[in-house]
Amino acid sequence: MILNETIFYPMGGGQPTDQGQIIFSDGSIAEVYQVLLKDGEINHYVKTTSQLILGSEIRGIIDWERRYKNMRVHSAGHVIDFSMYLLGYSQVHCIL
Ligand SMILES: [Zn+2]
Repeated sequence: MILNETIFYPMGGGQPTDQGQIIFSDGSIAEVYQVLLKDGEINHYVKTTSQLILGSEIRGIIDWERRYKNMRVHSAGHVIDFSMYLLGYSQVHCIL
């Protein structure tokens, strides 16, 4: 699915894809299992038994526990990376 805007973070910059749900106006649900940026568009890969209708109004819910864990792990990686740089164990450090 390609949406006109999204709350789902696509895989990239060293962080994994968001997962969650897309809820349609009739209450049906699509499970979002992967989100990728391809050719300048954010593609949501979903599992659903519902008929997807072009122009539908939807509501997105991200798996916050997963997102928050990924944010913490990613930030911790930067702290370790920069610490190694400051201690002289690395000539360069990552800025992404
Ligand atoms: Zn980063």
